[in-house]
Amino acid sequence: MQAPCPEALLASVFGFSAFRPGQEDIVRAVTAGRNTLAIMPTGGGKSLCFQLPALCRDGVTVVISPLIALMRDQVRALRAAGVEAGALTSGNTDEETEEVFQALDAGRLKLLYMAPERLASGGAVALLRRMGVTLIAVDEAHCVSQWGHDFRPDYLRIGELRRALGVPLAAFTATADEETRAEIVTRLFDGQAPETFLRGFDRPNIHLAFQPKDQPRAQILAFAAARRGQSGIVYCATRAKTETLAQALREAGHSAAAYHGGMEAGARRDTEARFQREDGLIVVATIAFGMGIDKPDIRWVAHADLPKSIEGYYQEIGRAGRDGAAAETLTLYGPDDIRLRRAQVDESPAPPERKAADHARLNALLGLAEATGCRRQRLLGYFGETAGPCGNCDLCDTPPDLFDATEAVRKALSAALRTGESFGAGHLIDILTGTTTDKVRERGHDSLPTFGVGRDLTRAQWQAVFRQMQGHDLIRPDADRHGALVMTEAARPILRGEAQITLRRDLVRRAVAGPVVRA
Ligand code: ADP
Ligand code: ZN
Repeated sequence: MQAPCPEALLASVFGFSAFRPGQEDIVRAVTAGRNTLAIMPTGGGKSLCFQLPALCRDGVTVVISPLIALMRDQVRALRAAGVEAGALTSGNTDEETEEVFQALDAGRLKLLYMAPERLASGGAVALLRRMGVTLIAVDEAHCVSQWGHDFRPDYLRIGELRRALGVPLAAFTATADEETRAEIVTRLFDGQAPETFLRGFDRPNIHLAFQPKDQPRAQILAFAAARRGQSGIVYCATRAKTETLAQALREAGHSAAAYHGGMEAGARRDTEARFQREDGLIVVATIAFGMGIDKPDIRWVAHADLPKSIEGYYQEIGRAGRDGAAAETLTLYGPDDIRLRRAQVDESPAPPERKAADHARLNALLGLAEATGCRRQRLLGYFGETAGPCGNCDLCDTPPDLFDATEAVRKALSAALRTGESFGAGHLIDILTGTTTDKVRERGHDSLPTFGVGRDLTRAQWQAVFRQMQGHDLIRPDADRHGALVMTEAARPILRGEAQITLRRDLVRRAVAGPVVRA
């Protein structure tokens, strides 16, 4: 597949910033028309793996799924995104069915969802052949297993359909056991092994680490200095920053090049080629870099700014260590990043449901940044995999110092509420620590009951508390009011004394990242 089709549609139709683990490879195989069997955990993002190829291919993709409600949901969501999709199920009204046939006859339909029972009715195969079906996608493929608890006799007709149409078939399931897989291969693919995707999402050779931003440039330079001569990527949020950071790295004696979407195509290709060819080049890039890069020995990836979403994070760190040898990552984040990412979501033209989903994906990443236990466990958990502590992340290396922060958080929330949720962390910390600034005096905030109630913590500790409160989505900066901190619903139980919260005591400290030594 040479066409850039999948990447372009990922953003424009589905509104996603990056593929989830595993999706990219599966999408490529299905789009290329190879028979595929993909085993993905529930919630892993299966539907995209046939919906996206359906849009990139000519003709109609027929999707067989056992769950009528789910089919209807997917059709509704696709239509809302401007995709021609329809369903033929027993739940249809006559008008709905008529509409589907009209779209089919007009050659407009891209995805046709069908309940397996439909295959039993005479003429279904002939009908599908007439309609120009070019791909069959089978959701919940384990339903062909006669020994499984979800057995659907009509699924046994799918193999027949594939033979009759002579088109590729892509099967999806979350059930990974060996017998079920073998049965799927026998019944859907006539025993001829399809391209199979079973890889777990874990990339155990990649070390995960986050640090709060203190002196971000110095933090990145220290990280790079400890890995001198190794190929690496630094991701930045803005084009201007890629230039200045690349310059700083060169001044520190590294070979480094900037890369961003605003550069001329020729210059971008040159940098890509240099990166593939040279050892030890550091590319400082916006997310535009990496899609087409196939370099197995990238030894490290650093984020100078917080990525957009947990999916973006996973995809970007995933460019490191493809050869399986140890690779290191470091992600920096701070209150400004959180403000920027929140504002990007709030100010986007997306509909409200998509904004809510984008906030949730950002929350997942912030939760990972402020995690109190193994990061990999949390990351994999988000993608639906269960795992124990990994022994290869900064929090496994050095378990963080935790404390019951319930009282501190309640004090912070109360300072925000008593001042009308109109101020940023700096002013609220002045109030909590009893610091009489001009602003505090002018507003009369030195007479608030919360004034000085937080003297037990230092300013730096309060900064860490406020940052973590944002990471746990207890407060959010309000883009319309210069980032004033506003309490979220999630904070209410803590304020009321119905829930407790544990935070990390780590101070905002000058971090110097050396190579991690592991036994
Ligand atoms: P399942 O594998 O259980 O069928 P779905 O296809 O329904 O999962 O996807 C689960 C959720 O993941 C959906 O809410 C979907 O919007 C979201 N999702 C799928 N792919 C991505 C992606 N690349 N980036 C962000 N979210 C995604
Ligand atoms: Zn770990």
